[in-house]
Amino acid sequence: MRPRPSPLLAALVCAAVGVPTAGLGQLAPAAHPQPLPAIQPVDGPLAITVVYPPADAVVGARDSSFLFGATGSGAARLTINGAPVEVAPDGAFLAWLPLPDDTVAVFHLAAERGTQRVSLDWRVRLPPRFVPPDQALWLDPGSLRPRGEMWAQSGEPIRVEARAAPGASVAVRLPDGRTFPLAPDTEPVATYGPFERRPGRLAAQATMRFVGTVPAVPLGAPLPPLTTASVPPDTLSASAGAAVLASRGADTLVAPLPLRVALVDRGALPVVILDDDTARTGRTRGTVVGAPSPHGTFNWFFAEGTPGALDGRVGGQVRVRLSRESLAWVSLADVASVLPAGTPPPETRVRLVRLTPRDSLVEARFGLEARVPFRVDEDERSITVRLYGAQSDLDFVQYGGTDSLVRRVTWAQPSADECTVTFELVSRVFGWRTRWDNSDLVFEIRRPPVIDRARPLAGRTIAVDPGHPPQGSTGPTGLREAEANLAVALALRELLIREGARVVMTRTTDSAIDLYERTSLAERANAEILVSIHNNAFPDGVNPFVNNGTSTYYFFPRAARLALLTQEALVGELGLGNLGAARGNFALVRTSWMPAILTEGAFLMIPEQENALRTPAFQEAFARGIALGIQAFLRGLTEPGP
Ligand SMILES: [Zn+2]
Repeated sequence: MRPRPSPLLAALVCAAVGVPTAGLGQLAPAAHPQPLPAIQPVDGPLAITVVYPPADAVVGARDSSFLFGATGSGAARLTINGAPVEVAPDGAFLAWLPLPDDTVAVFHLAAERGTQRVSLDWRVRLPPRFVPPDQALWLDPGSLRPRGEMWAQSGEPIRVEARAAPGASVAVRLPDGRTFPLAPDTEPVATYGPFERRPGRLAAQATMRFVGTVPAVPLGAPLPPLTTASVPPDTLSASAGAAVLASRGADTLVAPLPLRVALVDRGALPVVILDDDTARTGRTRGTVVGAPSPHGTFNWFFAEGTPGALDGRVGGQVRVRLSRESLAWVSLADVASVLPAGTPPPETRVRLVRLTPRDSLVEARFGLEARVPFRVDEDERSITVRLYGAQSDLDFVQYGGTDSLVRRVTWAQPSADECTVTFELVSRVFGWRTRWDNSDLVFEIRRPPVIDRARPLAGRTIAVDPGHPPQGSTGPTGLREAEANLAVALALRELLIREGARVVMTRTTDSAIDLYERTSLAERANAEILVSIHNNAFPDGVNPFVNNGTSTYYFFPRAARLALLTQEALVGELGLGNLGAARGNFALVRTSWMPAILTEGAFLMIPEQENALRTPAFQEAFARGIALGIQAFLRGLTEPGP
């Protein structure tokens, strides 16, 4: 530790040479990214450990995948299945290996140092690959989709898929004898976020898949009327079900479509109450998410207690009819209760919106006759609340005095039963939240903080979230992501406090915390920024040598600039590849009350990056990148942007 120069002396020196005095602890980017720190040699006992994939795990790849671990000694020479693999000075290794065309792969790892030799056979499993039968005509019954139970509107299109011999004629036959053709299609190649993954040599042939639609009719063993209860599977009576036919010349093959369909009576839809905490754990999101397709991306965030009329179901996903035009899929697990039969679909008139300015927010209270589903959309400087099953009968907008945040409120009726109310703000959107108060929808619009341009972080409340545990990745020599994330978070806390910020940590120890406990902690603390710190890992089958780098994610539009600025600063500080900033559907960035981002600084599976993450210099560079990004974002709030 070097003795510190006295601050008085430093100030005198600056004054003497005419250097402008930077504010105490002023954040500044590093002149240039430091090269990754050299790995210190380790020469322990020779012993091979494989960190990933775990023994006997199913590796989700067909062509090649990675395997990493350590040899105990940087002086070791390592081969896997006879091919040499580089060993880092600390004994870590990362290999990119071809996979056999089989359901089991055994890797023979052999390490030697001088006359010492050790070896290890590592076995993993591989997903079975569909191998087309060696026949002119075939139809794969295991490929038929959809399967299970479905409730649908009479005649609505149901998409059917089948795999059959290329060149065959494929069709679906309904119980009433009508047939509907399926068209040849290419098998899609799965994509994984920003990572490149080539279809490779074992990809399925392009023209083996057939797709088409059939109109919904009752199929298979009878089902009860649309229900939220679980339905025991039933053996299909082939006569009552649909069948898929594949033919070529005079030959025809037939396989039953394993699907039961019941029709929904549109005039008597069951009405339910949505709540994502039906088990009352207090550890959930607090909102029910809706998606445009079953298991699709999140598009709606319904406050707990929002009602909805169900008009369809596929397995464990139910379809909520929001209005004549709009549908949302939610998980069956988020249905809290079913209202008595005969309850009409939610419907209201919107009569009054009353604004009440408060210190840190403006409360907009929607006076409704009954609760209805809704959706919130942000723009740069406006927020629109769309109410479904609603008619605008808005006689009054009460502003509650001249407020400095909401400039104007406008409303519209874009369709017969959807009504929108738009809040035009004088500043950029910073945060909002919703809740029900009896039949009133309470919508709170957060005021942005007042920023000191010279010291943007001074007085700000920043929530810092070290990602994991539970879960998280592990590096080749055993560095756990949770540990690395915490070290960066602690360095960030120090930097932010030095800049005058108040820091709320979601954890400072190694104990596990659920995702939604982290966001609710930040919300309760009224944090003005939430940043979640992570280090990345690849899915099976992605080449880590060509894809690694830094990335930053956001969810709501207001955080896009924060993500872009932080990504730019992080790339400048860390000097790793730039995977870009992206919208990502992560729990930690879905808080609507503040701009929130999630950073993935480095890849723990890369030996040089695992090593770097152990060093204070790299941890501080990571922290500095984040702090610089937040600082630039906050300063930007003072600028009259678009
Ligand atoms: Zn993580």
